Amino acid sequence: MLEINDEDKKIILESIRDISDFPKEGIIFKDITTMLSNPKAMDTLMNHLENRYKDYNLDYIAGIDARGFIFGAILADRLNLGFVPIRKKGKLPYKTISQEYSLEYGSDEVEIHIDSFKKEDARVLLIDDLIATGGTAKASEDLIKKVGANCVECCFIMELSFLNGKDKFSSPVYSVLEEN
Ligand code: AMP
Repeated sequence: MLEINDEDKKIILESIRDISDFPKEGIIFKDITTMLSNPKAMDTLMNHLENRYKDYNLDYIAGIDARGFIFGAILADRLNLGFVPIRKKGKLPYKTISQEYSLEYGSDEVEIHIDSFKKEDARVLLIDDLIATGGTAKASEDLIKKVGANCVECCFIMELSFLNGKDKFSSPVYSVLEEN
């Protein structure tokens, strides 16, 4: 399984901006808008993801609302696969199933259309921009299974590894970049 080389890692890492105390004091927010507006960084990232996943025999890419849609849709197009959105509650128009997950205070829910994966036993890659506690992505992994598909891997552009979010998953987890 292909890992990213140090040179490409540096190009992507340097394109992401740290914003201190957003959305609240003590959080360092990883601002990917600066990467999105940097064609060299985006091309480096998407070339890496395309090379890594081209031989995984995937059927679909599932992206998490909202930044996972950007990377997921580009990758799905590059690999000629279908893209499936996993959305915050109340946004999808057809029949859905939902999965609750805990936040620091309270809870939230993600949803998927029940007929998202037309192929039986579909092989799905789940993608989001960042894994912190892993709550959102774990609920999304559960949804993929609930509608009868297989989550082959969970992929993140960045992992905040000091939060140990990846321990929650039953599928393999791959993070392009890690912050310790
Ligand atoms: P979690 O469920 O705790 O893994 O949180 C993951 C979601 O929150 C992802 O969709 C991220 O986009 C967002 N998120 C959490 N922490 C940060 C952070 N420090 N910087 C940027 N995005 C974050």
